[in-house]
Amino acid sequence: MLKIELASRIRDLPPYLFAEIDVLKREARAKGADIIDLSIGDPDLPTPAHIIDALKKAAGDPANHRYPSYEGMPSFRQAVAGWYKTRFGVNLDPETEALSLIGSKEGIGHIPLAFAEKGDVVLYTSPGYPVYPVSALFAGAEGYPLPLTEKNGFRPDFAAIPQDVLKRAKLLFLNYPNNPTAATAGLDFFKSVAVFAARHNIIVCHDAAYSEIYSGDKRPGSFLEAEGGMETGIEFHSLSKTYNMTGWRIGFAVGNRHVLAGLGKIKTNLDSGVFQAVQEAGVAALHTDDSVLAPIRKTYEERRDALYNGLKGIGFEFSARPEATFYLWAKCPRGFDSRAFTRHLLEKAGVLGTPGVGFGAPGEGYIRFALTVPVARIEEAVARIKGAL
Ligand SMILES: *Cc1c(COP(=O)(O)O)cnc(C)c1O
Repeated sequence: MLKIELASRIRDLPPYLFAEIDVLKREARAKGADIIDLSIGDPDLPTPAHIIDALKKAAGDPANHRYPSYEGMPSFRQAVAGWYKTRFGVNLDPETEALSLIGSKEGIGHIPLAFAEKGDVVLYTSPGYPVYPVSALFAGAEGYPLPLTEKNGFRPDFAAIPQDVLKRAKLLFLNYPNNPTAATAGLDFFKSVAVFAARHNIIVCHDAAYSEIYSGDKRPGSFLEAEGGMETGIEFHSLSKTYNMTGWRIGFAVGNRHVLAGLGKIKTNLDSGVFQAVQEAGVAALHTDDSVLAPIRKTYEERRDALYNGLKGIGFEFSARPEATFYLWAKCPRGFDSRAFTRHLLEKAGVLGTPGVGFGAPGEGYIRFALTVPVARIEEAVARIKGAL
């Protein structure tokens, strides 16, 4: 009989947040409940048709059936550079300043392996995407959370980082528009991040997964647009949320060439790139006309208004009405912590949110709702929540 022992790097991990929620949801569904699921950030809208057509065409070409290059096809990296130029006015060399990823989660998970090790610190904002601290841990480094609170406007307070932590810090994960708080940040903030990073020799990894999910005409900026951005870091991007392509697994990293070379070196040793037919579909995606994207943004805006106004109407409190992402970050009513409130809503209303504490300790007291169901279901959710309060 083998004695199977997990390595400490996974044995000591907290359970993956969404796995725990899946169990709760399955139990409720098994009891026959009609659950309105606002818990997972996975768009319910389909991938636009021209992207699917591009995949179909590319899938038939035998040249695409072979191993892709790990760094991405020249045509994909050129499309990325073109998109950055048009969208942000940022010039990128497609050969050295753009790298394809098997979803941005892949790059986020791998980058600490290139730049951090035992004794080093990886700074990350919390509450946040659970992969940031885990990737630090997998690299043998120490994750150090920077709390995002209403008091600090959901921006990290760099002055509060102890000197001994700062001295050992190698990487900083940031994410605006932010999941889960829905906070946004402007170029002034990004510039201050670049100044901080340059002073302390820290590589900035900005996760911009939600830059295209915004309301009205308030388009979020890029870290690379800010003064000092290209010198101090990289930006992770994803086709998942922008083009409803979470299942396709394609994203990219852009920015400082030396940082990308380090990430690339990890990738050459671990993976074999993105299926070329998916990259060709990615090229089609990056050329998507705004006449296709505007209605998607409008859909999220209508859902946001339905949920935000609905919950406000029944006494919920918010720091602000979100201007980007497809999340609402709502305060739990008095008397509930975030896990208790999530369970209460599931049991009494059949509505599933995500407990804020699951994104990190500073998320306690909040619940995240994802706007990934139609307005009619959101209205029903509000009515049911009202009954459960
Ligand atoms: C969804 C998400 C990602 C990951 O997207 P991929 O599908 O891996 O490209 C990265 N960061 C945040 C904050 C996300 O919410």
